[in-house]
Amino acid sequence: MNAVTVRVPAKVNLQLSVGPCRDDGYHDLINVFHAVSLFDEVTAVEADGFRVTVAGESIADVPLDGDNLAIRAAQALAAYAGCDRRAELRIRKDIPVAGGMAGGSADAAAALVACDALWGLGLDRAELSEIAAGIGSDVPFALLGGTAVGVGRGETLTPALSQGRFHWVFAFADGGLSTARVYAECDRLRMVMGVEAGWPHVDETLMAALRAGDAKALGAALHNDLQPAALSLRGSLALTLAAGREHHALGAIVSGSGPTCAFLAASEEEALDLAVALRGAGVCRSVVRAYGPVPGATIV
Ligand code: ATP
Repeated sequence: MNAVTVRVPAKVNLQLSVGPCRDDGYHDLINVFHAVSLFDEVTAVEADGFRVTVAGESIADVPLDGDNLAIRAAQALAAYAGCDRRAELRIRKDIPVAGGMAGGSADAAAALVACDALWGLGLDRAELSEIAAGIGSDVPFALLGGTAVGVGRGETLTPALSQGRFHWVFAFADGGLSTARVYAECDRLRMVMGVEAGWPHVDETLMAALRAGDAKALGAALHNDLQPAALSLRGSLALTLAAGREHHALGAIVSGSGPTCAFLAASEEEALDLAVALRGAGVCRSVVRAYGPVPGATIV
């Protein structure tokens, strides 16, 4: 085998509850991750050094050096396995960059799976997940996929029971939002408003909606503590969310740290109508439909 291609999904956070800022600067989170059918592809090709190429729309901000999370993942894997092989990573991006859908983390997970196969290492998922957690808190979920509850910084995962398929529409914005800036804004808003963040808990109503495959109940339970901060930094997102609600979305939410907005639809047909309406409303750069849950990083 001298080339391996891996397909990896984006995520949307069904619940993102942010606890108080810890001494180490991180926040304790409750994060219900949900993998959706919007994919990046990473092809690992045998090479004499680590290199990366990136293809896709709006990719200007993706680093092409050792800062690329896919390269970092491949390097971490080689170090873990004591392996002196190298790879060129060819990334085909459909997940929006700095869009709150964990595209960089997805590429890192894909690189782990692709290089593990390319180099014939045969690590199991638990080992890959341990390396993934060292790269970033969203990387283990991109390996796992499906729907899962993350606690702590998000890297300790428990798969969640869910029934059926949920239909989503995503509105991509022009330009990204820095995750660090959105967390800082969340802290600032809480300070200004005198809000003391409590210890976050899993929303049992949301988990019941997932188990029942009840899109209406799920839509009503979607929750993102980062949303006020994302709206404060990017006021126009309020119009995007309002347009989705007006066109019968069951739930409208900023995805992760934004600026992508996620809308849950009642059915595939409703998602199609909603996508057309959002395109017509001119409230975003582009619109895509997707469904979830889908599996994590998979060799194609
Ligand atoms: P998250 O939801 O995990 O907070 P995000 O989806 O908002 O992240 P990403 O697309 O993962 O954002 O990228 C955030 C930053 O990471 C980018 O601005 C870019 O500088 C850097 N980065 C490093 N590697 C990659 C990659 N392979 N793809 C995209 N961005 C990358």
